[in-house]
Amino acid sequence: MTDNATTASLHERIEQLKKSLNAIILAHNYQRPEVQDIADITGDSLELSRAAARTDHDVIVFCGVHFMAESASILSPDKTVLLPEIDAGCPMADMVTVEGPRKTRRDFYAKTHGISFTYPDEFTLRDMKNKYPGVPIVAYVNTSAAVKAESDICCTSSNVVKVVESLKEDTIICIPDRNLSSFATRRTSKKIIAWDGFCNTHQRVSAEDVKAAKERHPYARVVVHPECPLDVQDMADHITSTSGMLRYCKESKHNEFIIGTEEGLLHRLKAENPDKAFFILSDAMVCPNMKRTKLESVVRAMEGTEHVIKVPEETRIPAKRALDRMLEIT
Ligand code: SF4
Repeated sequence: MTDNATTASLHERIEQLKKSLNAIILAHNYQRPEVQDIADITGDSLELSRAAARTDHDVIVFCGVHFMAESASILSPDKTVLLPEIDAGCPMADMVTVEGPRKTRRDFYAKTHGISFTYPDEFTLRDMKNKYPGVPIVAYVNTSAAVKAESDICCTSSNVVKVVESLKEDTIICIPDRNLSSFATRRTSKKIIAWDGFCNTHQRVSAEDVKAAKERHPYARVVVHPECPLDVQDMADHITSTSGMLRYCKESKHNEFIIGTEEGLLHRLKAENPDKAFFILSDAMVCPNMKRTKLESVVRAMEGTEHVIKVPEETRIPAKRALDRMLEIT
């Protein structure tokens, strides 16, 4: 546990390093509170990538997971992008690959979530494209740069329906999140072929968790992320992205909210709405990868200029095309 004096000295060191490196610190909404507190900008992955693209700093310290730092590198190739914890990955992003077997931990998920996969681990995005020739691929931003490069257009949890509707084809492949695909399927007349991935953190909540939370907080509105399973979405008052949750809770006339996303968002929700009460839907809603980054990791990364995330040009250019295409329509 970091005590107050240590935290203060880490803050001071980070401020010095920011000046000497001409660095900006970006932190995802799911980061630890103390990491969010030292960030220049806190937001969702798209907001942070956009901030990375706009900044005139030389160094971007990305407190998040690997695919997010890659997106910053795709949009800001001239900057040095640092990911403080190199092992901060995303299990959902790992569930789709362009070539080579994907990481699905299927025995673990069968046991803990009672969930199975449609495709074998050897099944790649290229196999999907061969199976459905000519069907466009919509890639959630929670994918690797290599996967984005093989896709037609990217989407986020807030614009997925708009992106799907923007395509002229009637059938669309959505990767990698099965729950986000189901969310979109209900809101479009297009046929969506879903990949079979999911977010381990959002998949682990259940309708029973919603029922129990509502019993504990009968006056609270239930707000959940579209990465949650469909039966959880069905019980919610509102389904939206993290930036949508921040907006919704601020504008709502209600005073209590049960939040169905990674618990890090509560830090910002509470700070921005001191008169309102927020309760996490389930204590299991913690992403271990998002929690890897600590203040010490940030100092180490800045002192040693590590770990530099650089997407090679042959991947960056097609991946940027997919991101740009999304940005043009949203
Ligand atoms: S919360 Fe889910 S989608 Fe986000 S980084 Fe963690 S595993 Fe990936």
